[in-house]
Amino acid sequence: MAATALKPHQRELFGQPIGLYILFLTEMWERFSYYGMRALLVLYMTASTLGDDDRGAGLGWTSKEALALYGWYTMLVYVMSIPGGMIADKLIGQKKAVLLGAIILCVGHGVLVLTDIWAFYAGLGLVITGVGLLKPNISTMVGGLYKQGDIRRDKGFSIFYIGINLGSLLATMIVGGVVAKWGWHAGFGLAGIVMVLGLINYVLGQKYLTQVGNFVSDKNDPNEVSYGKLYSKLFSSPRQLLYAGILLLGTVIGWYYMDWGYGLLFLFLTAIASLLMMIYKELDSQVFKDRFMVLLLSFIMVIIFWGAFEQAGGLMNLYTDTKTNRMLLGWEIPTVMFQSLNAGFIILFATLVASIWAKRKLKGKEASSLFKMALGIIIMGFGFLFMVFAAMEFEKSGSSSMIWLVLAYFFHTIGELCISPVALSFITKLAPVKYASLMMGVYFAATGLGNKVAGIVGESASDYGEYAVFSGILIFTVIIGSLFILILKPLKRLTHGAEDKERMMHSDEAEGFELADN
Ligand code: GLN
Repeated sequence: MAATALKPHQRELFGQPIGLYILFLTEMWERFSYYGMRALLVLYMTASTLGDDDRGAGLGWTSKEALALYGWYTMLVYVMSIPGGMIADKLIGQKKAVLLGAIILCVGHGVLVLTDIWAFYAGLGLVITGVGLLKPNISTMVGGLYKQGDIRRDKGFSIFYIGINLGSLLATMIVGGVVAKWGWHAGFGLAGIVMVLGLINYVLGQKYLTQVGNFVSDKNDPNEVSYGKLYSKLFSSPRQLLYAGILLLGTVIGWYYMDWGYGLLFLFLTAIASLLMMIYKELDSQVFKDRFMVLLLSFIMVIIFWGAFEQAGGLMNLYTDTKTNRMLLGWEIPTVMFQSLNAGFIILFATLVASIWAKRKLKGKEASSLFKMALGIIIMGFGFLFMVFAAMEFEKSGSSSMIWLVLAYFFHTIGELCISPVALSFITKLAPVKYASLMMGVYFAATGLGNKVAGIVGESASDYGEYAVFSGILIFTVIIGSLFILILKPLKRLTHGAEDKERMMHSDEAEGFELADN
């Protein structure tokens, strides 16, 4: 077909639908605003209220208070992806959910420019809501650009992932300087301005996205999703009700022995787990049931991966700050710069890693998503070997070389590239179409729980020391990843060949999975 006859959403750039680049840029600006603001958060909360430097007054909190809020915040932004996904599936579709999320994010970052404490909490609340609406749904939309079996999907997600990290890299490089010169609230304001850019880009790019993220609903269809109906059916399913009851007991224990925050979290997770059980029960074929189950099992890998990986912002960050020799040619590299290594490595290696996997797949070698994810855990875990070496060197000489950190972040990044964009793509292949956004939301919630686990593991270093914690993570992750590889065959059977027939597709064929799967 001649290129001129193609509709905008069918047009390609570098072999990918142009819609991918619209989503890439939107997500890039969204991640800039998210990571820029995240980089400031703990520093702002702990800065003195006197405002005795150019950055202006902070909140004067203790680091314990600040880290506690930070832990909840970074978890909640991702956990809110569940309601964000449900709203898209049930009410407005992914495209409008992304639009709404982007608008809320602009308002949220705008509110954070104000100096009042109410504005601080309101701004955080709005950012959590905005990310919850935008993040899972924009990822599902990327999947929607490809038909089932289109081999370009994984690579498309890798390109999208570069956008994410470009946003994060730019943010970590620019926001610090803006704050040093113009103060905290200018930093928050910058996050708001770039989010406005993201919104404009998304609105202007709509003609390339006509086929994806639309709300499909037929109220007369007896199979139409109704979460209310699913919950009411729980009460006529004795086995599911029993499982839900056991989970609820966990909630009560969490409430009693921990605090109300954990209690509420467990209550929310109980509600979600009950919903997932009912969805499983209601799915009308064994193929869908098995695929649903294998997705949930793969989320266990996701929690373990992020639980280890997210030491980057916590324990490894502190280690860089206090125990690493950061001198290079007479200049001391600032600790925060090490946070850019991950994003930089992603940008350098994302397409390479994706191409290696695509070539393996075309040659008929093992390249299933489950295999990549398990291997990703092992490779990332292996990165902790270098942190073990760093801890050994520190114990011997009182300081450790930064090369260990560079190597650790390199392995962490290659592991991330094997699991994170792959998992996004995998979900869009396996989730039942009418629950696609919900499942993406559950995935992000799993990464959010991983963040929380990371905080808990990182804190244990004050009791056991870094050497023990880094070695523990190394051993645990390598064992878990290997176990998943051992059970790869039965797991893959549960996907019922969802990835077996992937092939090259082009322009007019690739009209998105809503068209393809129905
Ligand atoms: N760094 C990635 C992002 O910002 C992954 C985050 C996650 O899955 N929790 O999108």
